[in-house]
Amino acid sequence: MTQVQELHEELLKKLKDSGRNYNLEKIEDAYRLADTAHAGQTRKSGEPYIIHPIAVAMILVDLGMDSDCLCAALMHDVVEDTKTPIEAIEKQFGKDTAVMVAGVTKLTQLPLFTKEEQQSENVRKMLLAMCEDVRVIIIKLADRLHNMRTMSYQTPEKQREKSLETMEIYAPIAHRLGISAIKEELEDLSLKFLDPVGYQEIEDKLQLEKEDRVRFLQEMQDRVAGRLREYGIEPHIYGRVKSIYGIYRKVYMGGKDFEEIFDLYAMRIIVNTDIECYNILGIIHEMFHPLPNRFKDYISTPKANMYQSLHTTVIDKEGIPFEIQIRTWEMHYTAEYGIAAHWKYKAGIQRKDKLEERLAWVRQIIESQQDAEGAEDIVKNIKTDLSADDVFVYTPKGDVKSLPNGSTIVDFAYAIHSAVGNRMIGAKVNGRIVPLDYQVKTGEIVEIMTSKSANAAPNRGWLQIAKTSEARNKIRSWFKKERREENIAEGKAELEREFKRNLIHFDSEDEYESFMEGLLKKHHKDTLDDFYAAIGYGGILLSRLIPRIKDEYTRLMNTKPATEPAIVPVVQPQKRNKSGVEVEGIDNCLVKFAQCCNPLPGDDIIGFITRGYGVSIHKQDCVNVINSMKDPEQQGRWIHVHWTATDAVNFRSTLNILAHSRDGLVADISVALSNMRVPIHEFSGKDLKNGTSEIFITISTQGKEHLETIIEKLSKIRSIISVERSGK
Ligand code: MN
Repeated sequence: MTQVQELHEELLKKLKDSGRNYNLEKIEDAYRLADTAHAGQTRKSGEPYIIHPIAVAMILVDLGMDSDCLCAALMHDVVEDTKTPIEAIEKQFGKDTAVMVAGVTKLTQLPLFTKEEQQSENVRKMLLAMCEDVRVIIIKLADRLHNMRTMSYQTPEKQREKSLETMEIYAPIAHRLGISAIKEELEDLSLKFLDPVGYQEIEDKLQLEKEDRVRFLQEMQDRVAGRLREYGIEPHIYGRVKSIYGIYRKVYMGGKDFEEIFDLYAMRIIVNTDIECYNILGIIHEMFHPLPNRFKDYISTPKANMYQSLHTTVIDKEGIPFEIQIRTWEMHYTAEYGIAAHWKYKAGIQRKDKLEERLAWVRQIIESQQDAEGAEDIVKNIKTDLSADDVFVYTPKGDVKSLPNGSTIVDFAYAIHSAVGNRMIGAKVNGRIVPLDYQVKTGEIVEIMTSKSANAAPNRGWLQIAKTSEARNKIRSWFKKERREENIAEGKAELEREFKRNLIHFDSEDEYESFMEGLLKKHHKDTLDDFYAAIGYGGILLSRLIPRIKDEYTRLMNTKPATEPAIVPVVQPQKRNKSGVEVEGIDNCLVKFAQCCNPLPGDDIIGFITRGYGVSIHKQDCVNVINSMKDPEQQGRWIHVHWTATDAVNFRSTLNILAHSRDGLVADISVALSNMRVPIHEFSGKDLKNGTSEIFITISTQGKEHLETIIEKLSKIRSIISVERSGK
């Protein structure tokens, strides 16, 4: 028998042994189609190509996937690597299978795209396909797993590249889907190529005294089982070794000693009901001494990927700590197979269908990606959103929110509700005021202070503070919705300015539109207005885009027959200058107020011609101005500006307040401001060590004099030491 025949037989045996009702005929048809299509192709190892799809299908049988999914797995590389059209597959195998095959098929080379962008476009496509049918991603994970298992035949560059991608994208996806077996193997295989030395070191250490450890664990297992039987519980107990990458993370990233890792070996106890889990925990804590702070109740607070179990680390008489995990069978299936348990145990277990809930994050990533700053961002979003560690934070009412590690107040506020985030003016952690970029930690009680004022609104700066794509998405969508007209106008003006500056111009509206079409497509926008608006609300960063637009433009111009040079660039009708500042010699120019000194009408001001963001207005005595004037390269970019008569224009400015800490201070400040009808945009602060507090408030004012009045009023509040305008 040839190798292929053997493997084929093995697959058939696996299907029959699975005890499931597979459509063997259909699966055989898929096998034959793939075998014919890949005929003559070989893998890097020199083996016939068909070995790969068979191996992928076998992984999926173990996961318990269904017939259509196995058909798609067998044919998963047929469209990409052979001339077989997807229509032929749909005709023979039906829509479901065809959708899956199409979903795992990579996009063909995209012109104008960098390697990173191609990668993220492909990930994006995969996630979209996954929304349609989640089996797509399960096939993709099995595909990647087999490729990683056979990675030694690839070049070292390819090994590293694929391993990194696996570590950054596929393992996190497997984690989020709760398929821990695949996740751990992917991580271990990637680590082997990414840090061969570190990998080997851990493997060697695990071998040392392995027998002693195994014997120790077996003894403990017997003791626990014996005691539980006394209580009439017949548990299923087994031991497991932590994955190499799991240890690696603790040793190399967590800075722990190998010996300090208590869960190197864990004992798992599986029972039938939740109550039994808690009972067993009690018995265990009676038998052994539990280590403080090592008990985790993931039953009442499941991890974001729905993992549930009780974890505790105990220490025996000889002083050896070890971890015990207690769970029900259902929790066990969810932990091992995650989303795949949906297929594997569909028949056996009565459970509410959690598929939708499990996939909410995919939709969120895709949504946020539509507004993301660039195609690369999807990979970044996956990295943060899917990071393995979560923190659990409480609302004052005791509700728990789980957020990725590193999440800030902004993330928490938006995790509660968009309305809470959008109206946030500050926050307290365990009763103390904290700045909005404060990173929340497990166990903290976070209270978001909101304002009912119509002026309460998110701040664009929050986009930088937010870690989760959920929060960023919600902030962007606020700007998108609330300020669409403004965004379009601003975005359009910005684009025109950039085109002008870069000497990009078009002879006709048609030429402009056809040039723009490619850009729209690339950013998944339907209309020019959508594109302008995205620039306006910061969804598209022109500064990143312009170099490539320039290249494309040059390329286009060089291939175009020479015509009369156009003299007048395309200029759109003027927009009224609403900023209240006139820039000498330039009409209708974009004006931004510098964040460093927040100038107000009445201040002596000066303008700086920025690269790509119009003129930024500073106070003349701003430190940045004084420093920049010393730089000969920047001197020439300063320009005279002056205030024009304005009314009804509001300016933001930030006040730094220093005060003796006391209860009710924050309330007094809010009341004073609201009595003066001053809108608050942001309220944050921190307690200093010497019994004083520092508070930062961003408010709207009508100008310098108005602000001075406000400062005077605030200074009179009891225990306030000083009120200063920030950015002097
Ligand atoms: Mn493949």
